Amino acid sequence: MTIKSKFIFVTGGVCSSLGKGIASASLGMLLKSSGLKIFVMKMDPYLNVDPGTMNPAQHGEVFVSDDGAETDLDLGHYERMLNQPITKISSVSSGQIYNEVTKKERKGDFLGETIQIIPHITNEIKIKILAAAEKSNADVVIVEIGGTVGDIEGESFLEAIRQLRDELPADFTLSVHLSLLIYLESSDELKTKPTQHSVALLRKYGVRPDIILARTDREIPENALNKISKFCGVPKKAVIPAPTVKNIYEIPLNFQTGKIVELIGEKLGFNNLKPDLNQWNNLVETVKSVQNPESQIKIAIVGKYFDKGADVYISVVEALKHAAWNFKRNPVIDFINSENFEAGFNICNLLKYAGVVVPGGFGKRGTEGIIDAISFCRKNAIPYLGLCFGMQLAAVEFARNAAGLNEAHTTEINPETKYPVIDLMLSQKQVNKKGGTMRLGKYACCLNEKSISRSCYGKDTIEERHRHRYEFNNQYREALEKFGLVIAGVSPDKKLVEIVELAKDEHPFFVGVQFHPEFLSRPLNPHPLFKGFIKAALERKNKK
Ligand code: GLN
Repeated sequence: MTIKSKFIFVTGGVCSSLGKGIASASLGMLLKSSGLKIFVMKMDPYLNVDPGTMNPAQHGEVFVSDDGAETDLDLGHYERMLNQPITKISSVSSGQIYNEVTKKERKGDFLGETIQIIPHITNEIKIKILAAAEKSNADVVIVEIGGTVGDIEGESFLEAIRQLRDELPADFTLSVHLSLLIYLESSDELKTKPTQHSVALLRKYGVRPDIILARTDREIPENALNKISKFCGVPKKAVIPAPTVKNIYEIPLNFQTGKIVELIGEKLGFNNLKPDLNQWNNLVETVKSVQNPESQIKIAIVGKYFDKGADVYISVVEALKHAAWNFKRNPVIDFINSENFEAGFNICNLLKYAGVVVPGGFGKRGTEGIIDAISFCRKNAIPYLGLCFGMQLAAVEFARNAAGLNEAHTTEINPETKYPVIDLMLSQKQVNKKGGTMRLGKYACCLNEKSISRSCYGKDTIEERHRHRYEFNNQYREALEKFGLVIAGVSPDKKLVEIVELAKDEHPFFVGVQFHPEFLSRPLNPHPLFKGFIKAALERKNKK
């Protein structure tokens, strides 16, 4: 295979959660806006095949691609920053790699050989990277290596990129290392030693960084930059400050202050790269201009899994921001654990919000609290957007409290319910494995002409991404419609209910969707349903 793509490998040092995903996405965005074709992929060292079966409180959101891959939340950053969809091949884990290798071994592909990390696992990693380059035909493939340099699970990935760097011509690969500078209060100093150690470790694996992104909460003094340059063997101009910011969309602009595009161009042999950052500058300016109390709009996200804060619902939060910024507003988002309502927290507190979102979710914990919150929004004309589980529980709430089907439920929570308004389709009943078996990825939906959704999207047919097992039970369609539930969107064969709403004259905005519109929202292209929701929320705020 002849590879025309060049490669940027992004690693992280000192500790996790430094924002390698956002850094990789920012590099991609800068290079794309300089006219290059970019592909971004993430290699996760954990042994799960994908994050689909991991607890969101531990791992954060599962991001879903058009082609149905369940991926790490960083891939959401790639899509949002680059404004282009990822595919299955963007998401690789050790679990997948080991699976492939043992499958090949059982087939007899390696007959006679002893299977080892080097060369079998490292070869498989290289195959994935090179296949992505070939398939995407990108000018630059950005490969983010998950975890922190020094993690035992990450070693085979570092060895694979070491080999690739040795095998490919020098101007085909570039290594970017994102590392933390630590502030010591007692001596009022930014310490570079942990970064020096992390780079020393990286070099021990045979990877010498070309660019160091120095993450810090403070301004980096000149002498610290000099020190990093000298001790890490990187030219001073290639030590680029990566200050902590309130708005992540400022990050590419900060990198470009350090002329990172020019540096990459020099190393990878692209001449005269000039990023066009006009739209991005405007976005960042808009966000700055709305940082005042008058521009605030308060939105509640009612759900569970709040142990890890916003990471669990990161795409929902970003989608709300994109839509609010579109109206020159600053969304202030409160996370309300639905278990609080069950424990007696006053539900009238919801009145202070301009709108309420119930995002996706699984399992029993907190569901009665969510149903109470939905009921409150329905009865008090509070704009409501239900996403997946939020749609299913809206149907349950309506069945119970508007259509008199007491104790109606989803069979996910109560398999014995008398009124299973949300249930498994036959095809899902036959599934006996958990991993990768939900309805996943992009499906079409036809919109009801008079619906709120139709007026938001401005077209009759849409495509949205799914990730769920349960569906609206068609046996209850008529019964609920009779009481005023609007079936606003269905699959093209009309067999699956995709959207439920209340009529516009009944409620200002009550929309529940079986899919996840949040995955398609972009900072420069906010999602129509989120825009519709925020618009209704603003109208409520203005009325108050
Ligand atoms: N638990 C529900 C289902 O599996 C909803 C899933 C979700 O919200 N993503 O159908």
